Amino acid sequence: MKAPICRVCVTSDILCTGCEDKLKQGNISQVDIDLARTLSKLAVQHPILEHSEFKSTISFKEMLLVLVPKGMAGNFIGRKGTLIKEISDTLGQRRIKVVEETNNPKELVQRILYPAQLLGVNVVYSGKKQIFKVRISRADRQRIHEKESLEKLFEKLLGSETNIIFE
Ligand SMILES: [Zn+2]
Repeated sequence: MKAPICRVCVTSDILCTGCEDKLKQGNISQVDIDLARTLSKLAVQHPILEHSEFKSTISFKEMLLVLVPKGMAGNFIGRKGTLIKEISDTLGQRRIKVVEETNNPKELVQRILYPAQLLGVNVVYSGKKQIFKVRISRADRQRIHEKESLEKLFEKLLGSETNIIFE
């Protein structure tokens, strides 16, 4: 299993100085650590998790977004979603959404916004700064509850300032 913390820390209860530093500097979060240890524990009964990998986690409201490499989501979700349910139960009843990495911002945004419909993602430049404009149909306005926190989330995922606009 590959996680943002090292192999040793996955199976121990304390952190090595390397991972401790990463935590202090904010490169990893406590949730990353908890998830890595949860996956390692569950791998005893579910060997498919030995081949799982995640890059990072982002807490978003009641939800935990887990960013995984391309093609990896199935290993987390399991048959009919039973495995992801067990992972979230073990982690403390949090709703988990597994999102595969993609270098296509539109795909990534669409996966998170679903079932709201994404019209497009445009890149605009303000001086040297690039800004993403996430365009959502006005008809889906009701589905987007916290526009500002979503914008922050996309900013984190896409690495640039993001504005959501309805049209
Ligand atoms: Zn470590």
